[in-house]
Amino acid sequence: MAYSFDYDLTKLPREFFKDVAEIVDKRKLHKKLGKVSKKIVREFGVDKILGIPLEDAISVVEDLADLHIKNLVHEKDFKKAKEKILLVPHCSRKYMDLRCKADFNPMFSSYFCNHCSPDCLANQATELGEEKGYKVFILPGGSCIRSIFGNMNCDAVLGIACPEEIKLGIGFIESKGLAIKGIPLTKNGCANTQFNLDTLKEALS
Ligand code: SF4
Repeated sequence: MAYSFDYDLTKLPREFFKDVAEIVDKRKLHKKLGKVSKKIVREFGVDKILGIPLEDAISVVEDLADLHIKNLVHEKDFKKAKEKILLVPHCSRKYMDLRCKADFNPMFSSYFCNHCSPDCLANQATELGEEKGYKVFILPGGSCIRSIFGNMNCDAVLGIACPEEIKLGIGFIESKGLAIKGIPLTKNGCANTQFNLDTLKEALS
């Protein structure tokens, strides 16, 4: 289940993300994550900038920190993996209606982009992923990943989603013995969601 509130992380300064990554990188702070997250939220005024309650802001920071930890844990296996897939959220498509020319394949419960709009984020992610040899799936929802694994094999998964959704997907992907790397959405919601293309390029390589 995704968040019941909307956020827009693009309003936060770059130092915020750097601080989260540095704190998590030390790993020993994992058990103190609750306190650390609260401190970060207060220091950067995350709740005020995003306009969401303090507890929700803490949840976002905790989930981001958890995600970075998972990325670190899986880093080596992810690099070594040969068959990788990229999961892109359907809400990052330029169009959410019939103007989107993607094909929907029920076997994988996924869309496959037909590149109708160069400025579509899902299209850009698809092209970047395919250039690097990834099989790219545009997912209508987190639960659709089960259809993918029921119909194909891979060694690693690179997923773009809100931290809450990635957290839920991680358990399933780890249960399959696969390596995972997650990229958090910088802006969530039901449509026009965003993620950072530079972060994706870095993660794909
Ligand atoms: S570029 Fe692809 S994903 Fe984006 S709206 Fe067109 S067909 Fe859909």
